[in-house]
Amino acid sequence: MHKSFGEVEVLRSIDLTVNRGDVVCLLGASGSGKSTLLRCINHLERVDSGDVLVDGEYVGYTARNDKLYELPENVVAKNRREIGMVFQSFGLFPHMSVLDNVMAGPLLVKQQGRAAAEKTAVALLERVGLGEKADGWPSQLSGGQQQRVAIARALAMEPKLMLFDEPTSALDPELVGEVLDVIKSLADVGMTMLIVTHEIGFADRVADVVALMHDGQIIETGSPSDVLHNPHHARTKQFLSQVL
Ligand code: ATP
Ligand code: MG
Repeated sequence: MHKSFGEVEVLRSIDLTVNRGDVVCLLGASGSGKSTLLRCINHLERVDSGDVLVDGEYVGYTARNDKLYELPENVVAKNRREIGMVFQSFGLFPHMSVLDNVMAGPLLVKQQGRAAAEKTAVALLERVGLGEKADGWPSQLSGGQQQRVAIARALAMEPKLMLFDEPTSALDPELVGEVLDVIKSLADVGMTMLIVTHEIGFADRVADVVALMHDGQIIETGSPSDVLHNPHHARTKQFLSQVL
């Protein structure tokens, strides 16, 4: 894919495959295009050329007679709900209880029944270690707890793919581990994930593939032991020497 903002080419010839069940950690300096890439994947941004396929289906487009046609916004929503996204800044609905935050998508978007949505939401909150906080409010939670609710909320939509954009960057250092542990537990049950992170140690432990972005391109991709411990590209070495 290619993507420009005005004159500035932000994504240049990005070609990335994330295999089902894999964890891909995307690293790169500030401004290299990581967030833009995630936003293009779930069609929050339009690409200038190229396309995104999830499980064989175009995101945001439909193919007819070998041509792609952009889908209207309400139909794009169907693609988008198969892709969970978790941002740096949790983004919980402040006027809803923790449980209602997790139930909102299934109720409003998937039109699930209340009893089923609640059952799933309770199970997901337990899974992220927050079963006892279901009736609380987002403002009563720590940052790490809020982020875990945000993860449960994304999972409630039963996504085929989860995108994380620096999920621990806004957290105090002592809260980072609990969020990474939840993400690791998703990796352990085979969730497909693309994670933008500066947590090199986490990438080393959990990623199947590490990709390094520089100036709108993926310049190096491979196993953590290759990319993090035996990088080929001078830019990768430089990046690692700055963050380690
Ligand atoms: P960071 O690590 O700081 O989050 P990033 O790798 O996520 O950086 P992006 O946010 O994708 O980088 O930004 C890539 C480039 O695109 C930057 O030069 C940024 O200024 C530019 N950019 C991003 N969004 C827009 C926009 N909506 N309009 C214009 N330029 C944009
Ligand atoms: Mg970013």
